[in-house]
Amino acid sequence: MASMQTDPAPAAVPPGFERLRVKAVIRETADAHSIVFEVPDDRADRFAYAPGQFLTLRVDVDGETCLRCYSLASSPSVDADLKVSIKRVAGGRVSNRLLDTVQAGDEIVVMPPKGVFRLRESEAPVVLFAAGSGITPVISILKQILVTTARPVTLVYANRDERSVIFRHELAGLAARHADRFTLVHRFDDREGPLTAGAVAAQTRVGEAQFYMCGPAPFMQMVRNSLRDAGIAEERIFLESFDGEIDETPAAPAATGAEAAGEDAAARVVVRHHGADHAFGVRAGETVHAAATRQGLSLPFSCKAGYCGLCLARVTSGTVTMKDNLGGVSDAQIAEGWTLACQAQVTSPEATLVFE
Ligand SMILES: Cc1cc2nc3c(=O)[nH]c(=O)nc-3n(C[C@H](O)[C@H](O)[C@H](O)COP(=O)(O)OP(=O)(O)OC[C@H]3O[C@@H](n4cnc5c(N)ncnc54)[C@H](O)[C@@H]3O)c2cc1C
Repeated sequence: MASMQTDPAPAAVPPGFERLRVKAVIRETADAHSIVFEVPDDRADRFAYAPGQFLTLRVDVDGETCLRCYSLASSPSVDADLKVSIKRVAGGRVSNRLLDTVQAGDEIVVMPPKGVFRLRESEAPVVLFAAGSGITPVISILKQILVTTARPVTLVYANRDERSVIFRHELAGLAARHADRFTLVHRFDDREGPLTAGAVAAQTRVGEAQFYMCGPAPFMQMVRNSLRDAGIAEERIFLESFDGEIDETPAAPAATGAEAAGEDAAARVVVRHHGADHAFGVRAGETVHAAATRQGLSLPFSCKAGYCGLCLARVTSGTVTMKDNLGGVSDAQIAEGWTLACQAQVTSPEATLVFE
């Protein structure tokens, strides 16, 4: 088995990233491993985090540098070290690379914590929904609730079967230690079938609770719709999506030849990526990233919601505005001409975006 040292992380550490040593690898289930990072004292401030945030790992896979986000499963008020947990995705480049090769002592290039999925201050009860690897930010928030607040909390954790449960022992320990206010509900597809709207609605009887969720897109959509149908206001629902923004609009039809030429578009954009220029039309209200995807151009992305910062690009001509910016680009960077392609809408007849 090759380690990350024999097939190293990218040699150069780009601005905004740090090289961290792997302190331990924990086999959580047959297809999920945790990686525990050692953070040097002089980097502790950069790696301070709020429960629910994620790290971005920069990993070389077959000569290509890939960026992937992994939520922190550790919680600063409980755990001394930073820990992410990765579930194998069939055919996935980075998850397989990390699970198959990373060992204690390896080094990985990591971007410090980011993200806006966090516990909102309140004394209200909390209901957490997680499915599969979606438990990672949820257990971090759960530990924060149990250690730093007196709030009652319920976790509904859905998995295919009992063997797939990540953090089974840690969760059981938390349930035993906080039995007075923590209710742990496991849900197994092989016994009861997938989580139902009825089971979600049953959790809304907790008065004025806040609801947090993370899991695959269909799970999140079902939970979110069920909460809405049960009359829960949007302001009480918080979610983290591993698959990018939950898109509730139908996919745009594939580009026609005329659109590719920009004839049917509201603006024309040139995107420079890996040194090559790609010119295409962007429809009114469409983001540069969505238009690029429609053209078959694969640009960096992950959250598609404006917070992971992976689609950061510099606007070198024309103007853009962002639908949303949840922290993926700072005000100072915007002033220097940076934008997030997943949020950028072109406001001039032509614009050029450069991915560096
Ligand atoms: C905020 C956040 C937190 C996450 N936390 C966890 C976690 O705790 N545990 C976990 O197991 N997974 C987590 N994920 C999912 C994780 O980032 C990977 O998507 C997953 O491991 C599969 O990656 P892969 O390379 O194995 O699969 P692949 O199929 O090779 O890639 C899958 C994903 O990579 C991204 N991607 C594809 N092409 C590109 C590109 N050109 N540039 C940039 N990105 C691209 C897309 O998001 C795509 O869906 C999280 C995702 C997000 C957004």
